[in-house]
Amino acid sequence: MDMVICRDVVKTYRQGKIDVPALRGISLSVEKGEFMALAGPSGSGKTTVLNLIGGLDVPDAGEIIVDGRNFSRMSPSSLAELRLYRIGFVFQSYNLIPVLSAVENVEYVMLLQGVPSGERRDRARAVLDEVGLSGMYGRRPAELSGGQQQRVAVARAIVANPAIVLADEPTANLDSESGKSLLAIMKEMNEKKEVTFVFSTHDERVMDQARRLVLIRDGRVADDIRK
Ligand code: ADP
Ligand code: MG
Repeated sequence: MDMVICRDVVKTYRQGKIDVPALRGISLSVEKGEFMALAGPSGSGKTTVLNLIGGLDVPDAGEIIVDGRNFSRMSPSSLAELRLYRIGFVFQSYNLIPVLSAVENVEYVMLLQGVPSGERRDRARAVLDEVGLSGMYGRRPAELSGGQQQRVAVARAIVANPAIVLADEPTANLDSESGKSLLAIMKEMNEKKEVTFVFSTHDERVMDQARRLVLIRDGRVADDIRK
């Protein structure tokens, strides 16, 4: 089953009077359960692809279908609901809420979903245990290393059982050891929970971990390698 379908997707940013083409008719599909990397040089369009698949931005042309839902036929509120229930996000700069503890950051999505507080806390703790952060529930982001913060972000992305997790250069701010262990955790979540992962990177060691590598160049797919 296709988890993601992008068909002839075009996206151009406007900077004042200048048009900046980001995606020039990209087509791509991702099957359920894949662990896929989007690779390519800086400026090639990786973040734009992830933002569009995540429904955080809209294309100028083309179709995006995620989890069987065609974005162009959805109201803003049903798109917001799809994002909340079916898509998890991990960002390069972690994007944790600084005043909340690790466990509260992980609970946040479930709070928005209306999950009762006891269940929320239990599920958040369980997933923090799974990413190797038991004993750090109460720490704020500033009291955690970059690698630990990104594990909290992965826990937050996964805790509500999304269909797909989108991770934009999740290891870019990590040293190579923490990057490697973050990838291992993502892979374990992919296998154990059968969650589809699409992540972008320009780190070759991270690309090596992917089961499928899609190379983006100048807003188009330049290569698609299945390992
Ligand atoms: P990558 O993530 O691979 O580095 P991006 O998707 O961020 O690539 O960017 C693709 C192209 O779109 C680049 O030329 C970039 O400069 C441009 N771009 C991205 N976001 C914006 C924006 N908000 N405004 C103007 N241009 C942008
Ligand atoms: Mg980027």
